[in-house]
Amino acid sequence: MTIIKQLFSLQELDLALDSVRSQKADAEKELTARVALEKIERSLDDERSKLEVIQSAHRMQQVEAETMRQRSSTLDEQLYSGEVANSRDLPSLQLEVSNVKAQVDQKEILLLELSVRAEDTRRRIADLEKELAEVQAAWDLRQAYLNQQVALLTAEEAELSAQRSQLAQTLDQLEVLKYDTLRRSKGGTAVAKVERGLCQSCRMSLPSQHLQRVRAGRQTVNCSSCGRMLLFLA
Ligand SMILES: [Zn+2]
Repeated sequence: MTIIKQLFSLQELDLALDSVRSQKADAEKELTARVALEKIERSLDDERSKLEVIQSAHRMQQVEAETMRQRSSTLDEQLYSGEVANSRDLPSLQLEVSNVKAQVDQKEILLLELSVRAEDTRRRIADLEKELAEVQAAWDLRQAYLNQQVALLTAEEAELSAQRSQLAQTLDQLEVLKYDTLRRSKGGTAVAKVERGLCQSCRMSLPSQHLQRVRAGRQTVNCSSCGRMLLFLA
């Protein structure tokens, strides 16, 4: 087998390795990302903090409302017990009673609003918890699949890698070095096929003299346009 054919075989192994490694990197990246789950978890945290704020406001307002209700009943008792000795004090007491009652009413409305907001937030939390459970279940399946893929790809990578070094050992090391350098600078393909007189990588037509040397295959010939090593096919 000519050196260029062997280098082409080496390239096929390298391209297979590139693909395996890129698939493995994608799977590993997806395994660490948990993107969908993290988004729901963040929303859940937000809603839970909101609920805490609403609940503590509700407790505070309830305490205040209770104090006002007590004040209101104390005033009522005073008003109806006839204990107000001075009749001039009566209007101011009546005014205070109605003021306190109005404040109690306002508090009741506020408490009701807070209860409604808490209920809405609880509903959103329940929805998010349900969504999280569903996404978590789907993620568990995906994770199992990805872990399996990573294991398979790792085995495939080891196998290809062994084949690659076995083949590379048997080749002229200078040619391998030239090939490796070219592959790095040419986006992964160092060896280009020649079909119907055209370099299949850059589509340039080769001069017939050039083509003869490629066809003979005694030495590696580089494309005068893209610089890749040329393998004659037809
Ligand atoms: Zn070319």
